[in-house]
Amino acid sequence: MNATPLPGKALAKLIQEKARADAKDLGEAGQRPTLAVVVATDDGSTHWYVRSIERAAESAGIACRIVDLGPDATEQVLITVLSDLSAEPSVNGIILQTPLPPGVRVDELVGHIAPEKDIDGANPLSLGLLAVGRPAFAPATARAVIEMIDHFEIPVAGRSVVVVGRSAVVGKPLALLLLQRDATVTVCHSRSGPLENYTKAADVVVVAAGRPGLLTGDHVSNRSVVIDVGTNVLPDGSLTGDADETSVNAVAAALSPVPGGVGSVTTSLLLLHTTIAAREQSHALVTGSLR
Ligand code: NAP
Repeated sequence: MNATPLPGKALAKLIQEKARADAKDLGEAGQRPTLAVVVATDDGSTHWYVRSIERAAESAGIACRIVDLGPDATEQVLITVLSDLSAEPSVNGIILQTPLPPGVRVDELVGHIAPEKDIDGANPLSLGLLAVGRPAFAPATARAVIEMIDHFEIPVAGRSVVVVGRSAVVGKPLALLLLQRDATVTVCHSRSGPLENYTKAADVVVVAAGRPGLLTGDHVSNRSVVIDVGTNVLPDGSLTGDADETSVNAVAAALSPVPGGVGSVTTSLLLLHTTIAAREQSHALVTGSLR
């Protein structure tokens, strides 16, 4: 059996079109949505990724301001920049790009991104709001998995979903979003023991561990839908997911590809989150209300 592929590109395009339409509406009302990306590294692949966000934003009519502080930026400089961007009315969305310079603590920085501009759900307040079901931006990758589930009409309510990975940027927020969809969620991590004890009986498996080939055909059943969040760069520079494509393809019902799956949806969601933030901020300015 060959698993049904779950490509993300068409969905990414739909989301990007929505962001472009939103940006056009906002522009006609005199507001150009603006995304700020803070970078503090000389890592080439990070700069390549940031430029790809910039190109996507500009093609959607969103201004993208790259704030490149260089690889020697201190924690204090980063805090000041994030606080200033948070206070600046013309900036609607803020992304803090990792990796950061050695010794800079990401946990100390993300709390300085205003929650209403935290379009990649990095501030712990955003995760807290999500946990209690209040409006907040979820990390774009976690939201991208939910968009894939909706787009491909994968049932999750009342079904068993296993999330492999418990990071604050993917696994945990995704588990919260899946609970909101009435899924029965199990979160596995490096101390969970044999994964197949959980994954084999699951209807949906989302793997987000950053371990190439972690999930194999032996871990899934013929009714498993597998969504692969893993983005691993191999020594030859190519990208691979956390699922072993050949063996999972031979057993599972469906599998999202890497590249061309969740990752492509993630970038377009950053744009859509920016236009949503811009709309809500302009509404708050008019009404004087906070979210
Ligand atoms: P992370 O912070 O390193 O977290 C990895 C998680 O996987 C941890 O919870 C870890 O468990 C768990 N894990 C590691 N080895 C495991 C094993 N053998 N069995 C079970 N669980 C295991 O990584 P992350 O930032 O969440 O990213 C995860 C993957 O998603 C990476 O490949 C990353 O590149 C990718 N990613 C993709 C996108 C996208 O847009 N597509 C965006 C963000 C991240 P412990 O907690 O016990 O250590």
